[in-house]
Amino acid sequence: MATIAIDPRVSGTTAEFISQRHKMYIDGRFVAAASGKNFPVFNPATGDVITEVPEAEEEDVNRAVLAARRAFDEGPWPRMSPSERGRMIWKLADLLEQHLEEFAEIESLDNGKPRTIARVADVPLAVDMFRYMAGWATKISGKTLPLSSGYDFHSYTMREPIGVVAQIIPWNFPLLMAAWKLAPAMACGCTIVLKLAEQTPLSGIRLAQLIDEAGFPPGVVNVLTGFGEGAGAPLAAHDLVDKVAFTGSTEVGKLIVKAAAGNLKKVSLELGGKSPAIVFPDAPIEQAVSGTASAIFFNHGQCCCAGSRLYVHEKVFDKVVEGVSKVAADIKLAPGLDPSCQMGPLVSDEQYRKVVGYIESGINEGAKIAAGGPVSGFDRGYFVRPTVLTNTNPRMKVVQEEIFGPVVCAVPFSDQEIDRIVKRANDTVYGLAASVWTQNLSLAHKVARGLRAGTVWVNCHNVFDASLPFGGYKQSGWGREMGEEVLHNYTEVKAVTVAL
Ligand code: ADP
Repeated sequence: MATIAIDPRVSGTTAEFISQRHKMYIDGRFVAAASGKNFPVFNPATGDVITEVPEAEEEDVNRAVLAARRAFDEGPWPRMSPSERGRMIWKLADLLEQHLEEFAEIESLDNGKPRTIARVADVPLAVDMFRYMAGWATKISGKTLPLSSGYDFHSYTMREPIGVVAQIIPWNFPLLMAAWKLAPAMACGCTIVLKLAEQTPLSGIRLAQLIDEAGFPPGVVNVLTGFGEGAGAPLAAHDLVDKVAFTGSTEVGKLIVKAAAGNLKKVSLELGGKSPAIVFPDAPIEQAVSGTASAIFFNHGQCCCAGSRLYVHEKVFDKVVEGVSKVAADIKLAPGLDPSCQMGPLVSDEQYRKVVGYIESGINEGAKIAAGGPVSGFDRGYFVRPTVLTNTNPRMKVVQEEIFGPVVCAVPFSDQEIDRIVKRANDTVYGLAASVWTQNLSLAHKVARGLRAGTVWVNCHNVFDASLPFGGYKQSGWGREMGEEVLHNYTEVKAVTVAL
């Protein structure tokens, strides 16, 4: 294995965790891969190897699925009282909260994001998600239904756990994505095999240790580290899995659908986006500038709902573009653990190359750079400067495709186009999120109604809450995460009719 270099800024607790021989969590035990293989984990701020983790393959997937199957078919978890289940999920939330600083460090080191952000966003939102879903455990219920076919029947529905759930998550919010997936499935009484993203496995491994400490019965949660093809694909295709929940690219989402066809397991997908932010001329300029800048630059643009297309009315276009460009130019790039860091490196070399490639393709197709550009000025690490492109047209790749980096295309619109702007905003294959910036109440609601997106923010962007359903129209996905809606992902409805 290559030399291991742990950042000297991490605390002793985190350094100790990172230096452990990492294991996966299967059937209540911490285990190596059946093959004994491991793969390296990199620090995106330097490109150095920080540790290695087991490489799950088909045999490990089988072991994990069989454990989850047994735990569902014979174990106590789905039969436990809902309040007992809720208390255990709450306990996990408490444990996570007690280790907030450690998780913020792990997340920053592994993913590259600023520790300051992980501390106030990723970890607390994950804690909230477990608490919110702990509350739902006792409130999942059916209805009684009056039948028109006669009075001699009593009919009711029940919501039952869907069974063994495979969950596959990405690297942009490693802990939070795990929480979005695990918490509702736990609340519904499902058993779970979670596959972490290969780029960012560390917070999920640490979370598995807390799941064990919280006392979840063996097999209820199994956590695998491995690659998409080696571990994700056999998991999505497995015949003993009842449902697969996936977050990632639209391209892989389509592969998941195909893999699920074998046993027609249920599928939910949270996929890509190319979200518009639309600024009308009456919007308070300062708020619109800082809001639309953070819409794209939050988490280095590595958000499926990043506001990557900025439509601005021509009356305020120059002011807004200048403002957003100034925000971009002033953002301090540094390793995530550096206290002065406002934006860290992208997650991986692959992602770095992809994003720089998009900026270059925009330039080659005639776009102008108002801020940032393809050169970062760093001699190591996967840093990309926050970039603002103007002079784009709707057919350019940078306008149509998801970049998943800190790159925004600013596009002006005129008075004559106000009615058509919703159509332009809807003109991609995606439909995840959008934001509207105006003081005009009826215009805001009218535009919100016209947008084909699962989330519309007015005078804000990237506002998340465990209670708000999140997911996409069109090729941005199937089903919703969070809120009451997510319970549909993890339950089956049974109609019972009794002849009286
Ligand atoms: P990104 O391109 O942003 O890395 P992906 O959609 O490739 O996003 O990956 C998201 C998750 O899907 C990761 O956990 C990855 O390992 C997994 N994955 C990738 N390919 C497959 C596949 N063919 N089947 C199942 N899971 C996959």
